[in-house]
Amino acid sequence: MIHDVVIVGSGPAGYTAATYAARAQLKPVVLAGSVTAGGALMNTTEVENYPGFVEGIMGPELMTQMQEQAERFGADVRFEDVTELELEGDVKRITTDDEVYEARTVIISTGSEYRHLGLDGEDRLSGHGVSYCATCDGFFFKDQPIVVVGGGDSAMEEATFLSRFGSSVTIVHRRDELRASAVMAKRAQDDPKIDFAWNSKVVAINGADAVESVTLEDTVTGERRDLPASGLFVAIGQVPRSELVKDVLELDGKGYIKVEAPSQRTRIPGVFACGDVADPEYQQAITAAGSGCRAALDAEHYLAALDA
Ligand code: NAP
Repeated sequence: MIHDVVIVGSGPAGYTAATYAARAQLKPVVLAGSVTAGGALMNTTEVENYPGFVEGIMGPELMTQMQEQAERFGADVRFEDVTELELEGDVKRITTDDEVYEARTVIISTGSEYRHLGLDGEDRLSGHGVSYCATCDGFFFKDQPIVVVGGGDSAMEEATFLSRFGSSVTIVHRRDELRASAVMAKRAQDDPKIDFAWNSKVVAINGADAVESVTLEDTVTGERRDLPASGLFVAIGQVPRSELVKDVLELDGKGYIKVEAPSQRTRIPGVFACGDVADPEYQQAITAAGSGCRAALDAEHYLAALDA
């Protein structure tokens, strides 16, 4: 069977594309991933800036609703991981752990993943003090000192969430000015449990079997000091998950899939990209959803032209 639309990825972009494609009677298959289904919002607490939810909505609840909305119109959501994409030609092949799919169009919405510090011991101590997700792991650090790295909205959100568990929370930022939005920055700055280590970077993670401390280096003076920490939460942004298509689609210098704005078309006819993997700039749930809508409409127009 050759499907009209296969969507790879299942965050706000993928599910919105699925809803639009399903309502256009294109019977989309959504390959949602086995572990990462729902995308980054599955690891978030309250989403306060998604339009329509006056009191905010929990990230996982928002994603469940998006999935069910797409399914209501006939989207076929499968929790499989794509291992290979063959995108050239009229019929594309999408290989997962379980099956090979064929489709006339593919929408790629694989999102992004956490950027790592790249320090020795970071991977070894991941799950033993090093974490990238406060909502997943915060509870393990009850009454213990916690360090959060980063100066953006993610770091502020993580720190504010973690302050309910930790004995202390120190935000380590490499500059003396935050990148975070004013409202998120103020919330962290007003929290009596949160301290800031300005102009500082983590240069070592110390501990044999679990994190015991981190070594900070002053980015101005070069001075070093150790800071006790049981939890090290790394919140320094994301990198696009474009590995599967890096040899066939055009990527920018940071690995984001290039699209022909204002459309979501890629360089290959019938292949569209949306959400964080194609957005080096905004990376919001609402912009991801908007680009998912555009990708589905682009796919619909492409199929209509083929069938004309
Ligand atoms: P971000 O805005 O790109 O910020 C990343 C932060 O990490 C920056 O402060 C950056 O420092 C720092 N950083 C980057 N690489 C580093 C390294 N190797 N070592 C030390 N520090 C490093 O990423 P984000 O905070 O994950 O946010 C991503 C997007 O999601 C943003 O658009 C944000 O608004 C959005 N977001 C929104 C919400 C919300 O509204 N509820 C929550 C989370 C995220 P510099 O400042 O020096 O570059």
